[in-house]
Amino acid sequence: MKDISEYQRINTKTSPNILIVDDTPANVLLLEKMLSERGYKTRSVISGKLALQAARAEQPDLILLDINMPEMNGYQVCEQLKSDASLRDIPVIFISALDGTIDKVKAFNAGGVDYVTKPFQCEEVYARVLTHLKLRRLEKLRDDLGYMIIHDLRSPMTVIFGLLQVLEGKKDQQLSTLDQELVTLARRSSEELLNMISSILDVSKMGAGEMKLNHDSCDLDAIIRDVLATNKPFPENRTVMFTAPESSLNITADIVLIRRVLQNLLGNAIKYTRPGGDIRIFITSSSSEVRVAVTDTGPGIAPRYHRRIFEKFGQVDNSKYRVGSGLGLTFCKMAVEAHGGRIGVESELGKGSTFWFVLPRPNAALEHAEKDQCPPTG
Ligand code: ADP
Repeated sequence: MKDISEYQRINTKTSPNILIVDDTPANVLLLEKMLSERGYKTRSVISGKLALQAARAEQPDLILLDINMPEMNGYQVCEQLKSDASLRDIPVIFISALDGTIDKVKAFNAGGVDYVTKPFQCEEVYARVLTHLKLRRLEKLRDDLGYMIIHDLRSPMTVIFGLLQVLEGKKDQQLSTLDQELVTLARRSSEELLNMISSILDVSKMGAGEMKLNHDSCDLDAIIRDVLATNKPFPENRTVMFTAPESSLNITADIVLIRRVLQNLLGNAIKYTRPGGDIRIFITSSSSEVRVAVTDTGPGIAPRYHRRIFEKFGQVDNSKYRVGSGLGLTFCKMAVEAHGGRIGVESELGKGSTFWFVLPRPNAALEHAEKDQCPPTG
């Protein structure tokens, strides 16, 4: 029990829960015995498919994963775990008879944190398990601390934003034109900071599966007009044209989240378009979907970044354009996908970009008799 207390000392109240995945019963028994003697809780499964089910049913603190298994091998299991936002942080240690460098490199590329070769020594497996549990725990403490600090920034920032809004709205001419412009700039920057703070908090919450959506019935073009109004006047003669649909477009969505998605896309389009440049917003709809596209005349984005910019901290490798947190589009992707929608970009270097998102319209069939289709979304 001395070993488990070492882990508990760095902050956990319950025994770590280890998932063992191996199709060889003798290995499973050996690992179970070694870990339970040291106070760990274990669960064992004999296939990759069962491993994914077990991890989703109850998240383990760490996974010991065999590579050579029928149907789904360990690399595939690990890749699937890493592609699931709620499971990707679980450390995976591969245990395998394969001991070539190439096998180990493949295991790390698939997302494993460590590799033990069979036949294994229990002491070695245990030392590696303990190290990775400690590392994970410290990472979590760091993330929690960062979350708390950013969370605490939100209240004073909201006050600053609110006061600047009041000042901006004053009509009694006490401020000179220059002062009014400065107040507008300060209000915008504080709103940008608030938006960044909210994106960081929401990305963290959605990643942990803790974000609850509100399902409000709302008018999409009214939300867009509202976002446009708060961004006016557009800086340095940029123009934004909005092609609204003929009749209002009702959707069921979390208004606050969708408003922030639009703010992020419009904010980027304004940020990356040269002074005097044009931005266009289009809405198109079919009976089942609504598609919003924000097109700018900015620098464009090379194809190799089209996926990466939607990932956490993903930015184009060009210091000129690395001015934000790299979390805005991650937030947009998570928010749109949480609504059952899709998001993407079409862009060519030197020609500008179109960021689009599509939301489902579950109750729209009756509203739209004609079955027009959304244009292809790329
Ligand atoms: P941030 O703007 O805070 O860096 P985002 O997640 O909103 O974070 O965007 C990620 C990256 O994608 C940006 O850093 C930029 O490199 C690129 N990007 C986003 N929108 C555009 C755009 N409209 N035109 C060109 N590049 C863009």
